[in-house]
This record gives sequence, structure tokens and C-alpha cells, in this order.
Amino acid sequence: MTLENIVVVGGGLAGTHVAGALRARGHGGALTLVGAETRAPYDRPPLTKAVLAGKEEDCSFPTDWEALGVDLRLGERAEALELHDDRPGGVLRTTAGELAFDGLVLATGAEPVRLPGEGRQHLVRTMDDVHALRPLLRAGTHLALVGAGWIGAEVATVAAAKGCRVTVLEADRAPLAAAVGAEIGAWTAPWYAAAGVTLRCGTAVASVDPGGLRLADGRFLAADVVVVGVGARPAVGWLRDSGLEIARGVVVDESLRTARPEVVALGDCAAWWSRRYGRHMVVEHWDTALKASEPAAAALLGEDVCHDPVPYFWSDQFGRTVQYAGDHRSADRAVLRGSPDDPEWTVLWLEDEHLRAILTVDRPRDLVQARRALTAGCVVDLPAATDPGTALRDALRTP
Ligand SMILES: Cc1cc2nc3c(=O)[nH]c(=O)nc-3n(C[C@H](O)[C@H](O)[C@H](O)COP(=O)(O)OP(=O)(O)OC[C@H]3O[C@@H](n4cnc5c(N)ncnc54)[C@H](O)[C@@H]3O)c2cc1C
Repeated sequence: MTLENIVVVGGGLAGTHVAGALRARGHGGALTLVGAETRAPYDRPPLTKAVLAGKEEDCSFPTDWEALGVDLRLGERAEALELHDDRPGGVLRTTAGELAFDGLVLATGAEPVRLPGEGRQHLVRTMDDVHALRPLLRAGTHLALVGAGWIGAEVATVAAAKGCRVTVLEADRAPLAAAVGAEIGAWTAPWYAAAGVTLRCGTAVASVDPGGLRLADGRFLAADVVVVGVGARPAVGWLRDSGLEIARGVVVDESLRTARPEVVALGDCAAWWSRRYGRHMVVEHWDTALKASEPAAAALLGEDVCHDPVPYFWSDQFGRTVQYAGDHRSADRAVLRGSPDDPEWTVLWLEDEHLRAILTVDRPRDLVQARRALTAGCVVDLPAATDPGTALRDALRTP
């Protein structure tokens, strides 16, 4: 069936690229994009890097919306979804009224988690968030940052470089513990000290109060500015009465379709079935959202596709580039190439002798070579792999 009227909800990376992919694949009917933010769609990774540092102002996508024939409705938020019982399609209720559709793309991304309390807390998800925070990062300002995850580490990097007094509070035993485990995350802790940042692990925050933070043990930490970077949740609350299955994200199959084939979901808001890992995945990473755009458009237009990327993520922390690829959940051990005391090192996660994931610190070649191997499913020659002088590709072979 040819779709006549497709609506995309969410004007981020996924929504923007899926709109382009729909046109490139021949969708000639109406195409509407509804986005809650008022500014033209833009890229988020620069926000906590060049934009917060004041080195970049505009990271909007170079999309010519008019040429693409997209009815771009900015500053309009989807509030509810009603799917027809007797035929494909439905009606989207937004802050500006109702929109009928016969094809729907859900690409609403994620929302940062807030802490309780009446004090001002800065979150870092949007360009507006960064515009509010940036002028406050002045030399001597005491910045309390809650969460030593990817976002916290990047904000600490920029704030320390601007001369702020930065205290990072992390409930877990180490930075990045949730992402890579506390033992490996702990190897990044010295980076904070070297940048003049105070890192307090094992310190839970109960609330953000006027003038600072109330810690879980009752003590108070005074701060001029509080930034909270404790994770994000898929922005799917507005879909609760839609009848679609929601499990953290919108549940979709390997072709990114919901149980209704005329509704697809992708990017940070989707829980997609991975054939590779045998489970639903919610991956809040740039590369996964981008890679899903083509298959989501193809699936909506009726093609048979399979979205099954190996997750990949990068982060710039304290002058280092940290990259991660794969999924180490099933791994039974982690081995090091180099030493965390070296300027560059790599961690490989293995399940038996199979490579499952990699973390690199300023070793981009290892990352590139491992990424190929992760896609192909390689086994690792341990003595060669743990020697940082041997090219990683020479330690990997297809079984
Ligand atoms: C500060 C920051 C830095 C990052 N850095 C990195 C990095 O270095 N490396 C990396 O791999 N990844 C990084 N990421 C993650 C990456 O940017 C995301 O994975 C990516 O943006 C996901 O794209 P998306 O389109 O799914 O969601 P988003 O980019 O979040 O876009 C979703 C859009 O939908 C809108 N929306 C939400 N609800 C509604 C609604 N009800 N109605 C209408 N519109 C709605 C939102 O306002 C938003 O504009 C970073 C993210 C952030 C926030």
C-alpha cells in the first residue's frame, strides 16, 4: 500500500534523517515533522563539547527542509496518539491540534532525569540548556556536578578548562561505572584529579536545594551552579494510552516496526529487537540513531529490512578520546592492552575467546579494527591482543 501522509514525531538526529531517507526512497506523499523544540533540528554531541566551550555556535543539520518538501512544525509537542481500530493509520494530538496520518515515525529521543528538590538544576540535553549554563561557567565559580557518566565527564572537562572549581559527585564506586563497570571506570578517576576536579565517588545526592546539594547522608554541599547528569529516559510518556507496547522504549522488531506496521520507532526512544544480541536494546547513542534512519524509512515503506548494528559511542574527556563498541553484557572477562597509567590504552571484553566489546582511550586504530571484528564475530589470540605493540587486527581471526 502506498502511504499518502507520513508524520514524523521528533526533530532530532533520527527524525531529521528518517525524513530525508523517506524522500530518497521515493515517498512522494505528504511528509510532516512535529518537533517540540523551537529551533531548527541540530546535532547534540557538540553541545557538551565545542558549544559549551564557546567554540561552536551552530550545529544544526544542513537539511533543506523546503527542498525536501517537509512541513516542519517546530515548537509543537505531540501529546497523545490514537490508532484506528478498523484500518491502518490514526490521529496524532499535538499542542497545536490534530494530525491524521497513514504512516507514523516515532523519534522523540530521551529526556534527562531530574533530581528532587527546589533548587535550580541544570540539565544538558538541548541547545537552550547549554545557552542557560554556558554564561555561568566562569573562573572561580563552584560547580557541583551530579553524575560521573559520559555527560558529567564532558561538562567537567569544559568547566575545569574555564577555571571553575568543579566537584563531581558520583553515587557509584567509580566514574562510568554504569557504562563499563566500576573496575574499569576507576581507571579514569585520575583524569579528574589531573584537571583539578574534585571527584567524590560513593556519594549519593538526595536533592538539589537552594544554594547547593543535600547529600543522602544528610550533609549539605554549597555550590554556585548545579548540573545534573544522571542519565536519560526515552521520551515515551505521551504514548501511554496509545495501545503500543512500551518497555522503557517503544517496543519494535528488528525492522523497527511496532505491532502496527504503519508505525515505526527509532533512536533513543526505541527498544529494538537485536538479532545479534537476542534481546531488545535501548541504545542512547548517536551512531545507532543514525544507522536506524534508513531501515526505519524502508520498513515504513514496506520493505523487508533488519536493523542490527553493533553499538558504538565516543566521548571527549579531559583531552582524551574515549570510544566504545559492542556490548559486554555476556562477557566473562576483560583484558587490557597497555596500562591505564599510559596515555593510551584499550580494554577488550571476551566471552570465551570471542570478542564482545572494546573500550579505547586515544587508540582509534584499535577501535576501527575491533569494530569490523565485532560485526564479523571474531575470536581473539590473547597473547597478541594484550601486546599493545601488535596491531589488533593481527590478533583477531574469523573462526
Ligand atoms: C549533550 C549530549 C551529548 C552527546 N554526546 C554524544 C557523543 O559524544 N557520542 C554519542 O555517540 N552520542 C552522544 N549523545 C547521544 C546522541 O546525541 C543521541 O543518541 C541522539 O541525539 C539520539 O537522536 P534521537 O533523534 O533519537 O533523539 P534526540 O536527538 O533527543 O531528538 C528527539 C527530539 O524529539 C523531540 N521530542 C521529544 N518529545 C516530543 C514530543 N512529544 N513531540 C514532539 N517532539 C518531541 C525532542 O525535543 C528532540 O528535539 C549525546 C547526547 C547529548 C544530549
